[in-house]
Amino acid sequence: MKFAVTSKGDSKSNSLMHKVRTYLQDFNLEYDEDQPDIVVSIGGDGTLLYAFHRYKKRLDKTAFVGVHTGHLGFYADWTPDEVEKLVIAIAKTPFQVVEYPLLEVIVRYQHGGRESRFLALNESTVKSVEGTLVMDVEMRGEHFETFRGDGLCVSTPSGSTAYNKALGGAIIHPTIDSIQLSEMASINNRVFRTVGSPLVLPAHHTCLLRPVNNVDFQITIDHLSLLHEDVKSIQFLVAPEKIRFARFRPFPFWKRVHDSFIAN
Ligand code: NAD
Repeated sequence: MKFAVTSKGDSKSNSLMHKVRTYLQDFNLEYDEDQPDIVVSIGGDGTLLYAFHRYKKRLDKTAFVGVHTGHLGFYADWTPDEVEKLVIAIAKTPFQVVEYPLLEVIVRYQHGGRESRFLALNESTVKSVEGTLVMDVEMRGEHFETFRGDGLCVSTPSGSTAYNKALGGAIIHPTIDSIQLSEMASINNRVFRTVGSPLVLPAHHTCLLRPVNNVDFQITIDHLSLLHEDVKSIQFLVAPEKIRFARFRPFPFWKRVHDSFIAN
């Protein structure tokens, strides 16, 4: 089996990365940065987001596991003290895999019929850079509302505990194939009206945004931020691909929610 190890880049994560790499090689596993079967991400959730984007072209072949060198993460749930146990578990393949849904984002441009496709593990946001963002929101091809405000966030179930949660969105269990649309400071008065509640869409239901005014806006995909011009529409859908996490012990999602937000 081939493996890769990614690090947040700080000294603690780097030294743990070297340790994990040496241990796994001692077990005769092959280090392969380009085509790993398993990626051990060391740092935090952000490090796993980077690893996901690095290996997003081979999601059907690569599984991920996260170690946190700071606070407990949603994707990074192993502690530095547990890496020896983790290494032994990885060496004793085959391992169990759990799959989580991803978000597909398709940006279509006004000219030339161009489009770009992105995958998000947490969420994609559309935010005004200056002034009020005005977007027509379509659900399954039908006009739903005209949004006016700071922005909109579309999250995956596993991303529902991240930015989405800060926007008052619901926490969605990752076994539910869905995406969630939540608002950032919408303008609501006698003239302008949005639904106000976060909306959860099942697989195959598209949500499409069409810019109405000429305000510059920013599209984010997880930690990545892209400034877009000439955008005709942005489409969101549950992606056909899934991310695969290597599971070596039970750590139920609701326990992770409890330990992260209530107590540990
Ligand atoms: P970062 O390091 O500042 O991460 C922000 C925090 O989000 C960290 O504490 C991280 O552990 C946590 N986080 C990431 N994914 C999570 C998840 N799925 N569930 C629960 N917590 C999660 O920034 P980064 O490393 O560049 O990560 C980008 C992410 O930061 C974005 O995907 C977005 O979800 C999040 N974010 C959150 C807010 C907010 O809560 N107001 C604002 C901007 C971005």
